[in-house]
Formats: sequence, C-alpha cells, structure tokens
Amino acid sequence: MAVQTVATTDSADTVDLGPASGLSCRECGERFALGPIFACEACFGPLEVAYDLPSGDAEELRKRIESGPENIWRYAPLLPVPADVASKPNLNPGFTKLVQADNLARELGVTGGLWVKDDSGNPTHSFKDRVVAQAIEAARAFGFTTLSCSSTGNLAGAVGAAAARAGFRSCVFIPHDLEQGKVVMAAVYGGELVGIEGNYDDVNRFCSELIGDPAGEGWGFVNVNLRPYYAEGSKTLAYEICEQLGWRLPDQIVIPIASGSQLTKIDKGLQELIRLGLVEDRPYKIFGAQAEGCSPVSVAFKAGHEVVRPQKPDTIAKSLAIGNPADGPYVLDICRRTGGAVEDVTDEEIVDAIKLLARTEGIFTETAGGTTLGVAKKLIEAGVIDPALTTVVVNTGDGLKTLDAVAPTTGMSAVIRPNLDSFREAGLA
Ligand SMILES: *Cc1c(COP(=O)(O)O)cnc(C)c1O
Repeated sequence: MAVQTVATTDSADTVDLGPASGLSCRECGERFALGPIFACEACFGPLEVAYDLPSGDAEELRKRIESGPENIWRYAPLLPVPADVASKPNLNPGFTKLVQADNLARELGVTGGLWVKDDSGNPTHSFKDRVVAQAIEAARAFGFTTLSCSSTGNLAGAVGAAAARAGFRSCVFIPHDLEQGKVVMAAVYGGELVGIEGNYDDVNRFCSELIGDPAGEGWGFVNVNLRPYYAEGSKTLAYEICEQLGWRLPDQIVIPIASGSQLTKIDKGLQELIRLGLVEDRPYKIFGAQAEGCSPVSVAFKAGHEVVRPQKPDTIAKSLAIGNPADGPYVLDICRRTGGAVEDVTDEEIVDAIKLLARTEGIFTETAGGTTLGVAKKLIEAGVIDPALTTVVVNTGDGLKTLDAVAPTTGMSAVIRPNLDSFREAGLA
C-alpha cells in the first residue's frame, strides 16, 4: 500500500481544515499531520480526525450553530472543514427532517416518542451526501482533481453529483449488478462510472490496489485515502438529531450498518456534544441493523465475539451489502458499551418494513431503511428496545432507488374502464 508519508508534527498548519488538528490512530493513538492517509504507519490501525474543539461557553456555541445555515455547515466549528466552507461550491446537504412518527409509534406500541431522521431528503437522496461533502473539502485542501470511490450505489451518486457541482473529475466503481435506480443516479452527473464484475468487497479491494498504482495517482478516493475526513460527515446526523430534539440526547437510536462507519461516528458526535456541554450527559443506547443475508456484525454480536467474520452478501439491501465491514469491531464495542444491540432481519421483513413506514408516515425508504425499521420493530417486540423511552430510527435512503424490492408486492387496486359503473363494480366506492 503506497501510504503517503506525512511528517507527524508541525506541517499541519499548511492545510486549513478548521478545527482539525491532525489524525490519530484509533488503535495505538499515534498522531499524524493532516494528509491523504488512512492507516497508521506504526500498527496499520485506522486513522481518525483529531480536533481542537471550541472551548468556552456552550450557550454561545449553541447560538452560533443555531444562527448558521440550514445544512451541515452550521456545525462547521466541529468538522474538518475551513471556516469559509459555506461559500464554496458544494451541495450543502443535511438538516434533513426529524419526523415525529406518531402513527408508526402507535402501530409498534411505542409510547415514549418515536422519530424518523429522514435522510432521503438529501441532494442525492441518501445520507452519503453528508460524508462526501467532507471528503470534497479534504480533496480541495490536498490538491486532488479527480474524485473516486468504491460504492454499493448511493456513494457513487453522491460523489458524481458533488464532483459535478464542485468542478472535479469523477471516476467511481460499483458492483456491476446494482439496482437500475442506483446505476442511473450514479451515471447521470456525467462522471465515469465503472461496473466491476464482483461484489462490493471485490470493488473495494480493487480500489486499494488502484491507489498504490500510477493509474490512480492524484485521485482522492473518498472512502479510502480520504476516509478519515469522509467518516466525520456522519457526526452531523448526531448533531442534527439532538438539536432537532431541542438539544437533547435521544434514549435509543437505531442505525443501519454497512461498513459501520456511520454508526461509529454518530456515537462520536454524541460524545462531542456531551463534552462540549451542548446536551445534558445521560445514558443513550445505540442499536445496529443488518440484513440477514449480510449480517457479519450481528452474528458476532449475538455470539459474543470481538472479531467479525466476513460473509459473502446475498440480500436485497444492497446498499448495506458489505461482507467485510471495516468498522465492525468498533460497532460491536459501541453497541455493547452503550447497552444497545445488533440485530438482523430477513429480506421479507425488510420489504414489510418499507411498506409499514410508507403506510404509516408517508415516507418511502429504500431497502436500507427497511432493514433499520425492521430491526427496530423486531427489537421492540423482543423487549430489547424500551417502548417507553425516546427512540430515533435513521432512514438513510430513498425508496425510488430500489423500486424492484417492493414492485412484486405492490400494484394497482383495479384497472377499470373510464366510467362510473365500472368503478362501482370494482368495489372501491
Ligand atoms: C452507505 C449506506 C449506509 C451505511 O454506511 P456505513 O458504511 O455503515 O457508514 C446506510 N444506508 C445507506 C442507504 C447507505 O447508502
């Protein structure tokens, strides 16, 4: 792996990524200067962004955030981005709706309050716009001109769109057999879209090889060599949920797991809010959701293992189909530490949950959201999620991209001739 060597001290001032002060290894704590690196030179552990977070008055910071733009840049003081980020060409995702889901709550017997954080409202209709927005700022800071990624579908679209807006070239890689909606969404923005004959884990392996080769020189892979920055975007989900609840931690959050990055960083975001005094410090539980056909983290959780054994994915939840999740062990750690759990549901339960959310709240989610709600329902019924406490379910994507999943079990109530007799005969009056 051609990891670019960056001095471990002082050269950080040449890169302006706001409060980001460097990178630190999640395993051994070794510090590195900000740069397009993602693995620790000492122990090969994953790197994450370290900060000089604002100190001082929490009330002042809260006011500053509240008077900011209605997108993720209101949290710029807590993100690895330059202070003037809001003035750059960017898709400005975030500040999506937190929907109070009373109908769904009634149906599931939840009395403590149930919310759906609806990230289908982002510019390319998935939560991936949040992470790409961070990666783009890092790419700018490091002088990359081509943006790339390995993707299960949504990321490819998010990179294509953000690159188009920000003036980067893009070349993204996906498994060749993705849903039509995801392929079109990834291709329409005019960048290069390459289908790989293999699954996501093959795509990801290929991209790691490309980074070490002259063919990939000067390319910013948002989820590989820019991964530490990319990952921080998921913190904004935690910030928004708490702000939208009135600067309050929810008691329970249910989050889908693909690589596990999102879940891990939502926890990091919540911890930061506590540390900054923006929310009251009280216990919260994090629950992870997987599809049975790709459930390496769920299997490890239930078996009490600390290592995650890779699987070969086979599920309709393709955006979650990562058989070898990079952040799996951290997810296990967080779900155990907070008293949460990881659970999985069948493809049939995923489809049922998609229809349940649509029927009760008018929100059409993709298979990933079906997985998350399906797991929430299963854990409520099992008494693992407490119905008397506040619960947030994160919807990460849009059902229009995965129509095939529900098409076989939905359709017209009737086809009639255009006259009243025919309508009466159909028995719908
Ligand atoms: C990528 C993705 C996720 C989860 O991503 P992580 O790799 O776990 O951060 C969840 N839902 C959707 C729709 C996605 O596209």
